[in-house]
Amino acid sequence: MIVDSSALATDFHETADAVVVGSGAGGAPMAFALASAGMKVYLIEEGKQYDISGFKRNSWKVMRDMYRDSGTVLTLGVPSIPLPLGNALGGTTIINSGTCFRTPENVLSQWKKQSGLTGLEYSRLIPHFETVEKMLGISDATEETVGANNILFAEGAKKLGLHPKPLPRNAPGCKGAGLCVFGCPNGAKQSMEKSFIPAASQKGAAVITSARVEKILIENKKAKSVSGSFRDGNKNKRGIFRIDAPVIILSCGAIYTPYLLLKNKLANSSGQAGKNLHIHPAAKVVGLFKDKINSWSGIPQGYYVDDYAHEGIMFEGFFLPPTFLSFALPAFGMDLKKYMAGYCKMAGFGIMVTDTSRGKVTVGIDNAPMVFYSVNRADTEKIKKGIEIASRVYFAAGAEKILVPLLGFDEITSPEELKILHEAEIKPSQLELSAFHPMGTCRMGDNPKQSVVNSYLETHDVKGLYIADASVFPSSLGVNPQVTIMALSLWCAENIIKK
Ligand SMILES: Cc1cc2nc3c(=O)[nH]c(=O)nc-3n(C[C@H](O)[C@H](O)[C@H](O)COP(=O)(O)OP(=O)(O)OC[C@H]3O[C@@H](n4cnc5c(N)ncnc54)[C@H](O)[C@@H]3O)c2cc1C
Ligand code: SF4
Repeated sequence: MIVDSSALATDFHETADAVVVGSGAGGAPMAFALASAGMKVYLIEEGKQYDISGFKRNSWKVMRDMYRDSGTVLTLGVPSIPLPLGNALGGTTIINSGTCFRTPENVLSQWKKQSGLTGLEYSRLIPHFETVEKMLGISDATEETVGANNILFAEGAKKLGLHPKPLPRNAPGCKGAGLCVFGCPNGAKQSMEKSFIPAASQKGAAVITSARVEKILIENKKAKSVSGSFRDGNKNKRGIFRIDAPVIILSCGAIYTPYLLLKNKLANSSGQAGKNLHIHPAAKVVGLFKDKINSWSGIPQGYYVDDYAHEGIMFEGFFLPPTFLSFALPAFGMDLKKYMAGYCKMAGFGIMVTDTSRGKVTVGIDNAPMVFYSVNRADTEKIKKGIEIASRVYFAAGAEKILVPLLGFDEITSPEELKILHEAEIKPSQLELSAFHPMGTCRMGDNPKQSVVNSYLETHDVKGLYIADASVFPSSLGVNPQVTIMALSLWCAENIIKK
C-alpha cells in the first residue's frame, strides 16, 4: 500500500516491527527486504509520489517539485557548490542519471583497513549486488541510445590511447530521451519508486508519503518510536503521526540523516555525526564543434573513462536542456547568447574526483541543515588535471574551442593554450563545480569513538537504531554510489532479520 498522508487521519498512531525513514537508495531496498521477511514495516517519505509521465518535458516543474528546495541546496565554502538532492518518493534516485557501479573491491579493502568493519567482506556483498542488479535490470548502455555526445568523446579518448566504455545503467527499455535527471518520462529508469518500493508494498510494507519524521524517541538506550508531521501540497504541516517500533532505520541521505541525529541529540557520543562529508566534486567541460552534434538527444551519461580512476579522477558523460546548460557556461549577456546559439554543436563531459576534502553538516540558527565544504589543494589539482585531459580529448575529437569551469581560463581555443593552463597554479576559488554524491557523515567503523554506526549499520549508542544510506561510507567512494548504498542497505537488513 502506498498512500499520501492526506488520506490518513490528522492524528495517526501505529505500531510496527520496523520503521524506515526516507525512500531513496537506502530506504527502499531496506523496506523491501524487511517486508519480504514477514516484518510489519512502515516506509515514511517526506516528499510526494509523482507520476513522471505527467511531467513531459517541463524540467522547471520537476526541479520545483521533486528536487529539495527546488534544486537550490548549496555547500558553503570555497568554492560554494550546488548539491542537488531529491525530495520525492524514490529519493534522489528519481532524479538521478541511472549509472550503476558495484563498490570497487579496493575501496572496500581500504575501508576495512581504515575502520575494521568486522564481518563485512566483499564476498558477503555479492549476493546483494546481484539482487540489486536483477531488480533494477542493470546492463550496459547501448550504442544506439548513448547519442553522439558520448560517441564523440569516446572517439577522442581512443585517439589519446584511453579506454572509453559504456556505463552500466538501470534503464532497460531506455529510449535515449536524455531527461534522466528530470525523471525518466518513458518509465525506463528503474529508480526506487519503480522497483524496490512497489515490490516492498507488494510484500506488505505500508508506504506513507508527505510525512516528515522530526523526532526519534529512545528508552533505556533502545529505539522506541518516531514521530513527525504530515504535510500538505505546499509542504505545510497538516497533522501529526507517531509509529512505535523496536527497529528504526534512518535513510534520509547524507545531509538529512546527520541533521536528524544532531537535532535529536542522538547517537553522537563519537562527535562524528555530520562530520567527514565527501561529495565527489564534479566539473564539466564543454566542447564547441563546427558541425551539429545534437547532444541533447541520447543518454546524457552514457560512457565513461576510468583510465585515471587510480588517481581519483573519473570521466562520465553529461548534457543538459538549454535553459539549464546556459547556467553552467562561463559567460553572461551577449557572450552567453553567442554560445547558446551554437547549442546543437556543443558536447559535454564531466569530471568527478574522489575527494579527500572533508566538509560537515550542522543545524543552522534557523534550525535548517547547513552544509560546509571547501575544496583542498590536492583535490583542486585532481580537478585541474581532469579538465586538462577532457580538453585534450575534445581537441583530439575535432573541437574548435573548449569552455572550462575555471575562472580566468573560460575559453580555450587551441591545444597550445592548454599548456598555459598546465603551468598555471589554480586556486580552489577559481573552480566552478557541482556535486551530486553527498556521503560519509555518519561513517561506519568498529571503533565507537571514531564512528557513528558499526559494520552492521547499527548505531553504537542506541540499540535498534540503524542508518542505511550514503552517510555510512567511511571515505569518498570514487564511483557513483547508488548501488553501494542499496547493497549495504540489504546487508544491514539481512542482519536485522537474523536478529
Ligand atoms: C542529478 C543527480 C544525478 C545522480 N546520478 C547518479 C547516478 O547516475 N548514479 C548513482 O549511483 N548516483 C547518482 N546520484 C546520486 C544518488 O542518487 C544518491 O547518492 C542516492 O540516491 C542517495 O541515496 P540515499 O538513500 O542516501 O538518499 P536519497 O536517495 O536522497 O533519499 C533520502 C530520502 O529521504 C527523505 N527524507 C529526508 N529527511 C526525511 C525525514 N525527516 N522524514 C521523511 N523522509 C525524509 C528525502 O525526501 C529523500 O527522499 C545522482 C544524484 C543527483 C542529484
Ligand atoms: S535517457 Fe531517457 S529513456 Fe533513457 S533512462 Fe534517461 S530519461 Fe529514461
